[in-house]
Formats: sequence, structure tokens, C-alpha cells
Amino acid sequence: MNPEPDAAVAHLGVESPTPRCSPPRIDEGVHARAHAHAVVEDKAGVYADIDEEGWLEGAERRPSPSQDARPPGTEIDLLVIHNISLPPGDFSGDWIDDLFLDRLDPAAHPYFREIAGLRVSAHLLIRRNGRLLQYVPFEQRAWHAGVSRFAGRERCNDFSIGIELEGTDDRPFTEAQYARLAECTRHILRRYPGITEERIAGHAAIAPDRKTDPGPAFDWNRFRRSIRAEGQAVDPYPPTE
Ligand SMILES: [Zn+2]
Repeated sequence: MNPEPDAAVAHLGVESPTPRCSPPRIDEGVHARAHAHAVVEDKAGVYADIDEEGWLEGAERRPSPSQDARPPGTEIDLLVIHNISLPPGDFSGDWIDDLFLDRLDPAAHPYFREIAGLRVSAHLLIRRNGRLLQYVPFEQRAWHAGVSRFAGRERCNDFSIGIELEGTDDRPFTEAQYARLAECTRHILRRYPGITEERIAGHAAIAPDRKTDPGPAFDWNRFRRSIRAEGQAVDPYPPTE
């Protein structure tokens, strides 16, 4: 079933983010905690740590212009799971990359005319083959949640990390995606202990009137089991589905 015309990216939220000129938060306590433990390498030696700016080792860095500073003093204590595909239901191109880098060509597809110019981003994107791209370092605010609320607190972009899975609400996500998501999440939880298992939510849960992603095809039980287990490091680029 084709998604609603705007389903693929509307979930990102289109309200204008409020530019902030404040410098990135410098929280010595958080940094001290982050570095208090030794860096533990996975078997493959990748994704072993997150640096002070919040770049995940091993992810392809694609700095997005669509980001800004979090409000000063904000603890990062929510993880939001999304899905996206461009055009909707098509996993063949690099259009999500173009969208998050604010360079989507509106002439490339009729659908893109509707969304080109949206200033949106996510911290991480996991493509169908498990390829991992990072657009915004975790210490910065990505623009993925839009109008949203978690546990009575609004503007979830302020205090959350957003991960996009390439996909749709109703098509199964790939083995490679579940493996990569588990691996990323374990690193994020270790670095940001305010994100407990209860503070991992789908976009639909924080914007229930507007959003449906990651949708019924996302296996929450599998995901939650996977982050409790000490998983194997996964191949950087397994064959695509
Ligand atoms: Zn979403």
C-alpha cells in the first residue's frame, strides 16, 4: 500500500525550528561520565565510541545544515525511532541523503516538489543494507520530531536523538537494519544513561495525531531484546536485501 502523499517525510515535522545562537552545551559532568569508562571495542572494532561532539565512530559523517544547538543544560534523555523513504516506498536512490543535506532537487521526482526546501534532519539514518550515516552529532539538535510531546514534555527535538530507518510503515525492516540499530542503540545508551529503555519511543508515540512511523512493521519486541543482549558486531556493508 502506498503511503499517504506526505507520509514519508511529513513525520519529520515542518514547523520552523527556532534558530538559537547559544553555544553547544558544555556539561562537564556528562563529559566526565562519558570518559570515566574505558573505551570498549566491539569485535570488529567499529562503532566503539562516541566522541565529545557526539559523532559515532564508524558512521559515515554527512554534516547537515539543518541542525542547531540544544537548549543550554539539556540532558539528552530520549531516543526516537522513525522511518522514511524517498520517493515513498522506493529504496533505490540517495534522496534521503539529499533531503537531510538540504539539496533535494525538486525536478528529480514529482513528489520532491512538495518537500524540497524542508529543513529536516535526523542524527542517524540506517539504510536497507545496514549502511549507517550520521547527519548531526548527538550533542546538537536535529530536526526530526516536529511538534511532539513525551511524558508531558514538549519539543522532543530539544532532548532527543532521532534515528531514521529507511523503510515504510508496513514493509518489514531488514535483518541488517535491526542489527545496526541494536548496535547503535547500545552505544547511545552507554554514552547517554538518561536514555533508559522506557525512554525509547516511536515517532507515532510522541506525535500521535500526526505521525504513524515507524509503523506496525517495526518489531519493537525484537528491538528491545536486541539491545539487552550483548550483540555481535555486524559487517559494515552486508549484501543488500
Ligand atoms: Zn518520523
